[in-house]
Amino acid sequence: MSEAACEFCRDRGWIVDLVTNRARRCSCHSARVRSWRLDELGIPPKYQGCRLSNFRLAGDANDQLRAARHGCELYIEEFLEFDGSLRESGLVLVGPSGRGKTHLAVSVLIELVDQYGVRGRFVDFTKLVADIQSTFQPDSDLSQADLLRPLQEADVVVVDELGARRPTPFVLDTLYLLINGRYMAKRPTLFTSNYDLTAEGEDDVTAGQTLADRVSASLVSRLHHMAKPIRINDDVGDYRHDVQAHQHR
Ligand SMILES: [Zn+2]
Repeated sequence: MSEAACEFCRDRGWIVDLVTNRARRCSCHSARVRSWRLDELGIPPKYQGCRLSNFRLAGDANDQLRAARHGCELYIEEFLEFDGSLRESGLVLVGPSGRGKTHLAVSVLIELVDQYGVRGRFVDFTKLVADIQSTFQPDSDLSQADLLRPLQEADVVVVDELGARRPTPFVLDTLYLLINGRYMAKRPTLFTSNYDLTAEGEDDVTAGQTLADRVSASLVSRLHHMAKPIRINDDVGDYRHDVQAHQHR
C-alpha cells in the first residue's frame, strides 16, 4: 500500500474534530481543488505556484524586473473598465530566457481568474504549433475547430514563448486567424517571447531576429495593436551595475 500524501487526513480530504465530533475539510483539500483548476487552465505543474508575490527580484536587472512586475500589477488593477467591461488589450513580455516572463504571465492569468472570475487559458506556443500541424493529418481525431475553440472563447489567453518555433505558412495562417479573431472579439491575449516586436533589444540568443522573422509580419503588426510590450533585457541592468561599481571606487 502506498503511503498517504497528507499526514493529517490520510488523503480522505476531511478530518473529524475530536472535541466537537464534527468532520471538517482538511487543508489539503482546497490545495487539491486548486491544482485541478490550474490544470484546467492548462498551466503546466511547474508554473502552477507562480504568483507576483513570489516573483524573484534577483540579479543585476533588479529595477527592470521590478518595473515589469509593477506593469503586471497595474494591468491586473486596471483590468476591469469603468463600465464593468473587461479590458481589451493584452501584454507582450519580451526578454531573454530565464528572466521570469512566464512566471509573470502565469501570475497575471491566475490573478485575473481569482479576482474577476474570467475564463482563462494557458498555451505553449511550440505545443500549439505541433497540435495545429497534427490536425492536418487525415487520421487526426481532433479537428482544428475543436482545438482552437477553447482558445477563441476564453476571456484571457496566455501564449507562452511566441516564436520559439518557426511554423509553416499554413500553420501561420491558422495562428493569425486565432490571434486576429481574439482581437476582433475584444478579448485580451498575453504573450511571452524571446523575440522583440522591433529590432531594438537584440541579443545573442535571438541573433538579431525579431518576432516578424519568427512568425509573420501581419501577425506582428496585429500584436502592436493588441498588446502592450513589457521589456526585460539584460543591458540596462548590467549598465547600472557598472556605473554603481565605478561610483564606489
Ligand atoms: Zn489532508
